[in-house]
Amino acid sequence: HLSTHPSIHPFPVSCFLQCFSPNAALHTKDTFHPQVRAVCQVQKAGSLSFNVAKVIVVGDVAVGKTCLISRFCKESFERKYKATIGVDFEMERFEVLGVPFSLQLWDTAGQERFKCIASTYYRGAQAIIVVFDLSSVSSLTHARQWLEDAMKENDPSSVLLFLVGTKKDLSSPEQLAQTEREAIRLSEEIKAEYWAVSAKSGDGVRQFFFRVASLTFEANVLSELEKTGPRHVGDVINYVTSFTHNLYDRAPGT
Ligand code: GDP
Ligand code: MG
Repeated sequence: HLSTHPSIHPFPVSCFLQCFSPNAALHTKDTFHPQVRAVCQVQKAGSLSFNVAKVIVVGDVAVGKTCLISRFCKESFERKYKATIGVDFEMERFEVLGVPFSLQLWDTAGQERFKCIASTYYRGAQAIIVVFDLSSVSSLTHARQWLEDAMKENDPSSVLLFLVGTKKDLSSPEQLAQTEREAIRLSEEIKAEYWAVSAKSGDGVRQFFFRVASLTFEANVLSELEKTGPRHVGDVINYVTSFTHNLYDRAPGT
């Protein structure tokens, strides 16, 4: 069963928002890689296969995974839909540097309670979001195991990791600071980007998913360029410029 939620207006993204912890970030640049910008400028994205990314969400039961996704995709906190048996994903559309791009956000239907998540759930993920509850130390302790399980089905060199603490609204500033120290330490170790959010208040949720979209998009374009070789970018640019020249050539006569 696939639940697709087509948003009418894609979210436009043109730079990286600077709203993560600089010491636990995948990178801290505010612009996209120059090659990525070059490709997008010529708008040939349709011919390359980077316009969708599979993103999986894992973590202990009740840490707030489903609420996090529905806060972003449905702009609501209370869950109004019922996940059916098996896996389920939401499609969320973005427009990165003017190019259409979608995140396929996979959510479990409660199988994490029994630790019996199908390998198809994990397989081929471009981003792994490990969620823990900022008010539950044990859920952070379990994050490492969730990551290990998810990594069994994925290539470490091509997957982006995010460690997300939820229910920020429940912690006092002192509690939060203490948990965050642990979480940032773990992020550094596993090379994940750390975020603290609240699905209840919405704090950080939008920024977080924009960040996931920006980073997976950039990684997808770069890996595609690596596969096809930098010549491809040149070809695309040459094609566009020759087309433009043709138009100019013909212009006076027509
Ligand atoms: P899942 O099992 O990881 O998918 O967890 P759910 O998304 O179903 O959430 C589990 C419980 O945590 C529910 O009772 C939610 O109402 C609650 N919850 C989720 N996110 C938040 C949050 O940001 N703040 C607070 N206060 N409660 C939350
Ligand atoms: Mg759930």
